[in-house]
Amino acid sequence: MTDGRALAIEYLKQQQLLGGDSVILAEKPGSGMRDAGCAKAAPEPTHPASRIPQPDGPSAGISFDPPSADLFAADPVQRAATLADVATLIADCQKCKLCEGRINTVPGEGSATARLVVIGEGPGRTEDETGRPFVGRAGELLTKILEAIQLPRDQVFICNIVKCRPPENRLPQYDEIAACLPFLYRQIELVKPNVILAMGGTAAQSLLNTKQSLGSLRNQIHRFRGIPVVVTYHPAALLRNPHWKRPTWDDVRIAARLLDD
Ligand code: URA
Repeated sequence: MTDGRALAIEYLKQQQLLGGDSVILAEKPGSGMRDAGCAKAAPEPTHPASRIPQPDGPSAGISFDPPSADLFAADPVQRAATLADVATLIADCQKCKLCEGRINTVPGEGSATARLVVIGEGPGRTEDETGRPFVGRAGELLTKILEAIQLPRDQVFICNIVKCRPPENRLPQYDEIAACLPFLYRQIELVKPNVILAMGGTAAQSLLNTKQSLGSLRNQIHRFRGIPVVVTYHPAALLRNPHWKRPTWDDVRIAARLLDD
């Protein structure tokens, strides 16, 4: 089998994982192969950023550059030297009303030297119960998405905009987001990722400080303090709307391409 064909098969398997439609690869004379081994893949994508190869890539988007940590600052968040220090501060945080209903804080987890930081909205029930991000059904899907770009979960840093569960999984409110963002800023400063993947409207709008819709933020490469930010759908939204898996896969591949830049 040629390298190109092996790559194509790997791609089709990933598309299948993410809900792609059926396709049968034409049999190659002498290959002894009837199909791709998965018999499923996407038809020609129509999304401009999804064509492979993409010589120009998606256009540039918003750049947001909030002030970074000041070595001489009194603020303990800015002085936190490690992710564990940030987590300790989060565990004691009472800056907003979300602290009242929490079982556990959910600071985030993963590699302190991750090339990719994934940001969601806020903990759900399972995350609140365990203190770990993205461990419910949406988390399982996120883990599969990461595996599809050859990134085991433990090589990524996964966290949320708010670190405590909003009651009944409602959207985090503006004051709650504002109180929690300094923790995220410090986490990003410490990890220094090559790429940030913002999943869902809350993550994208809060990180980029914009009210633009998720739809208008997708398919552009934004910047947070110079770090490329790719915006995509939230895994929980994908569970409700499987037809968003294809565009999400397009976005995730854009993020993967930026990892080594
Ligand atoms: N949804 C999120 O946004 N974050 C989690 O950690 C879990 C579900």
